[in-house]
Amino acid sequence: MTLFEKIANHEIPATILYEDAEIVAFRDINPQAPTHVIIIPRKPITSVNDLTPNDAELIGKLVLVARKLAIDLGINESGYRLVFNCGPDGGQTVDHLHLHLLGGRVMGWPPG
Ligand code: 5GP
Repeated sequence: MTLFEKIANHEIPATILYEDAEIVAFRDINPQAPTHVIIIPRKPITSVNDLTPNDAELIGKLVLVARKLAIDLGINESGYRLVFNCGPDGGQTVDHLHLHLLGGRVMGWPPG
């Protein structure tokens, strides 16, 4: 079982901000911005590389949860960044697909 599955199952503590039958969102333990939330599917897909067309609706739902949380957390008007890290060069460290919601400060571009 992945670390994020354990968080989704409440076996490892986390500050959970949203959950439904398919998706869980929780605060990142090492935030890179004043607001940093991790949004995951309960289904343990390893990375973007492992998505199939059958996952299209699920991925859409992840983005819509991010949008809702941005509103709830008050960063929708100031702006935010949504990130899927994939593989070693993408900086992925947890092998369970996740969407980062980052906000509350100005983000640099290009990313480091
Ligand atoms: P990645 O680098 O794979 O894109 O992102 C993984 C994220 O998960 C990192 O930002 C890291 O801080 C976060 N993370 C790793 N372990 C834990 C944990 O046990 N709890 C929480 N809440 N976040 C974690």
